[in-house]
Amino acid sequence: MRPVIIAANWKMNTTPADAGELAATIAARTEEPGVVRVICPPFVCLAAVRDALAATNVFVGAQNVHHEAAGAYTGEISVTMLKGLATWVILGHSERRRDAAESDELIGQKLARAISAGLRPILCVGEVLAEREAGRAVEVVATQLRGALAGKDMEALLSGGFVIAYEPVWAIGTGRTASSDDAAAMAEAIRATLSADLHWGEAAEQVPVLYGGSVTKANIGEFLAEHSIDGGLVGGASLKPDEMAGMVASAAITAKARADAEGRA
Ligand code: PEP
Repeated sequence: MRPVIIAANWKMNTTPADAGELAATIAARTEEPGVVRVICPPFVCLAAVRDALAATNVFVGAQNVHHEAAGAYTGEISVTMLKGLATWVILGHSERRRDAAESDELIGQKLARAISAGLRPILCVGEVLAEREAGRAVEVVATQLRGALAGKDMEALLSGGFVIAYEPVWAIGTGRTASSDDAAAMAEAIRATLSADLHWGEAAEQVPVLYGGSVTKANIGEFLAEHSIDGGLVGGASLKPDEMAGMVASAAITAKARADAEGRA
């Protein structure tokens, strides 16, 4: 059974002075059984958030990491530097693809580096609006997956807890979401790409696929109702404790329903 995950991407928000308190408030308001919770603050807030969450089972994630282990890379952060600060990492977010020109190949290198360091990666994929309107969304996402994953060690990725987030770029921070049907169809297409193109076979079914793009407590239920979708990667709404409480409460209902169904099977 795949886990149900709610991951918070705080992007370039919060400071070391206020991040710990926000994380602690969210943790206290989301103590629902069965849901994997992850908070990904900016790098400079990782220590404060780690300390604030030390007595909880909420995981801390980074929003990016460099593909090399160390060296002359001014301003960059390596996996070694994240040791003790974060156990998860978001990779290939569309804002980094857009602002830092990250390619699928580079994202694949980061993925391998993260896995080898024991960081649990959330690989983001998704099409822009023109690609969806041209009927190319599945092809674009499949290309991103092949570019990042070809030649990678499937067993290492699976045992490292590899997660994929489908985030249509046109839905991020816009208040517009994909329909739950389209998101579910893409989650299935993602697993089909892993299974057939990348030769993962039935192991593809083990990979959690999250939906991201203007998720809120009001709409997350639609996505969680889809069997192929295993939670959300949430930006704007993840900075609001009330929103996080609502989203995790919905996710807990899904987690319980899945556990009950598994128990009956
Ligand atoms: C994100 O940052 O991954 C995201 C989905 O943002 P938002 O929820 O604000 O659309």
